[in-house]
Amino acid sequence: MKSEQESSANANSEAVKKFMAERKWEMHSCSACGRTFFSKPFTKMDVSACGWHKCDKGEYPFRTYSKRKRMLTPAQINSRMSEYFRSAGFDTAIPMNIANFEGQTDLVIAGVQMFDDIIHRNQKIRNDKVFLAQPCVRMQFQPLVESQEGTSTSFVNVCIEKMGAEFFEHLQSVDHWCTILSKLGLHMNDFIVVMRTSIKDWGTGKFSALELFFSYGGLELGDAAYLLIPQPNRPAIAISDIGFGLERIAWAVNKTDSYFDTLMPWTATGTREMFDSCRTMALLVLCGIQAANKGPGLQFRRFAKVLSEKYYGVDVYSILAYYFDYWAQFIKPSINREAAIQLARLEIERFVNLKVCETLRLPPPRNETTEAYFDRLVYTCNINIYELRKAIQTCKT
Ligand SMILES: [Zn+2]
Repeated sequence: MKSEQESSANANSEAVKKFMAERKWEMHSCSACGRTFFSKPFTKMDVSACGWHKCDKGEYPFRTYSKRKRMLTPAQINSRMSEYFRSAGFDTAIPMNIANFEGQTDLVIAGVQMFDDIIHRNQKIRNDKVFLAQPCVRMQFQPLVESQEGTSTSFVNVCIEKMGAEFFEHLQSVDHWCTILSKLGLHMNDFIVVMRTSIKDWGTGKFSALELFFSYGGLELGDAAYLLIPQPNRPAIAISDIGFGLERIAWAVNKTDSYFDTLMPWTATGTREMFDSCRTMALLVLCGIQAANKGPGLQFRRFAKVLSEKYYGVDVYSILAYYFDYWAQFIKPSINREAAIQLARLEIERFVNLKVCETLRLPPPRNETTEAYFDRLVYTCNINIYELRKAIQTCKT
């Protein structure tokens, strides 16, 4: 016998098929993974496979599609979206600090975590519907940044969230997303929508989620999930969670060769890994996170280590300042810019100081910049200037 969850999931996937058919989407079955997916009749996409990242060729054909006349920044796209959703009756929610203490992850990885205290701490159910532009960090992308276009460890999750949503309300929200994406110049003809039912567990028990993944010309932009989250002392909570990657939308809109083309200072050069590390580190420090051996502070330390070991000698501090200003467009800084850059600098140079200290068997560094450490070594400890200068060269890239 089927569980109640399973039969409602089946009813919902039938509702999706009906909803898509009414909007002239054609249904297909993927020759590679067997999933159901949808495309418009005049799509340019190859519809033999679903366009899911495991089934397509990993190319991004959208880059050759016709471009809009004027490029848009992520912040401009965000404000157009928030205006659209406000006019559609959504409230704008204030983003959370990236350090997460309520849920199961150290850092906020998705906007839906605005409900963490309700899901995990039995707080009162909410019934409002909101638009949220939530800065997020996903560490699992770190090894992919350099090798795979379109990935970054930090991004803005633009989402609409509705707790207690009926399934038809969820589909209405999907409709809203199709409208705003079209308004931004991303035509539905160029999308493939993949349907998936998956089993999740957010710590309160297993549940099945019905998800629709939106792939634009080979680039996965976001997904619409309908969740029924089990609760120990009350009925399962329904959530309509529809989230997109703002920077990916910006890439799709602007159609530059590389995802990072518009996500780095115009005059700077360097690897994606370097820019990505600065970008995420700036977000962490802007939220008041300090280096530590566990939790959010450990992630901060990891990026500092990459920057000190592989990129010391590059002016990463002006790049950090650039990204501080980027994130400040989305989340209120809990620290001023100069203090933030100084904290990042101390952590990056801590590794450099330790390396020089070890190489030359010097008195240990304090919590100080490399300049301050050397100053102390030269004027207080009588260390040879030329040995120090030679040692510092070995730390530089
Ligand atoms: Zn597939």
